[in-house]
Amino acid sequence: MNDPVTGHCLCGGVSFVVTFSTENGINLCHCQMCRKQTGTLFSSWAIAERSAFSWQSGEDQIQSYPSSPGHERTFCSVCGSQVPMTGGNQVAIPMGLLNEDPGIRPQRHLFAASAYAGYPISDELPQFEAAPPEWGQRPERSDAGDTIPGMINGGFLCGTLRFHITAPPTKIMHCHCSRCRKSRASAHVSNLYIDPDTFVWNAGEENVTLYTLTDTQHTIGFCKSCGATAPLVFPGLAIVPVGNLDDVVDVSNAPHIFCGSKAPWFTVMGHVPQFDTTPG
Ligand SMILES: [Zn+2]
Ligand SMILES: [Zn+2]
Ligand SMILES: [Zn+2]
Repeated sequence: MNDPVTGHCLCGGVSFVVTFSTENGINLCHCQMCRKQTGTLFSSWAIAERSAFSWQSGEDQIQSYPSSPGHERTFCSVCGSQVPMTGGNQVAIPMGLLNEDPGIRPQRHLFAASAYAGYPISDELPQFEAAPPEWGQRPERSDAGDTIPGMINGGFLCGTLRFHITAPPTKIMHCHCSRCRKSRASAHVSNLYIDPDTFVWNAGEENVTLYTLTDTQHTIGFCKSCGATAPLVFPGLAIVPVGNLDDVVDVSNAPHIFCGSKAPWFTVMGHVPQFDTTPG
């Protein structure tokens, strides 16, 4: 066994302790549901035994969304972070929530056939086109929702929110800071920065809940039904999580920022610009 590690959601309300077996590895899942829920290019999670896991706080503020038959996705109702999912004698831990090095490393890509075409997988890890063999059949969901031709379209996991963007982004960045990792519970976030005048809500704006981390300006938007990350539209700037998108924007050459606080278990794929903090 590895050493026990702690983890919590962005707001800190939901917290836990877990010990991973040395046989476990981290799954990087590229399915549409994971991308839509976390707003990232892929989710990052590992299985632990239920007996090696305990909640420290906040179980009562966990909300769940039935994303497919017999499968619930859980999130913090206050800050929207994806949180551990318990089931039977196992628990799935979203790795972005961890405070320390869990001792395990990425092992494989799941649902590689659904990987976001704007950031092709470029490392040497084994790839499974869909679910790993031990899961049996687990079909991918592909309900993109209504899209407007010629625009960059996107939406939520639950389908209540739809939006489109009328012009290319002004900037694209992949951020590895600890707040971003906690808020999306994955290795890093990937965001489009756009002119707010080019952002249009088609439906569901009223479902977006905003959360600002105490004593900071770090704000996150999420769907109050499914917990999926939402675009943020401020005067002068809008930020759109790449995981929300149904259309392809090439984000493969965008800089990775705050790599100085990168998750110890993650290695950035490909030869892309990396900065300890920001490009300056
Ligand atoms: Zn929270
Ligand atoms: Zn997935
Ligand atoms: Zn960040």
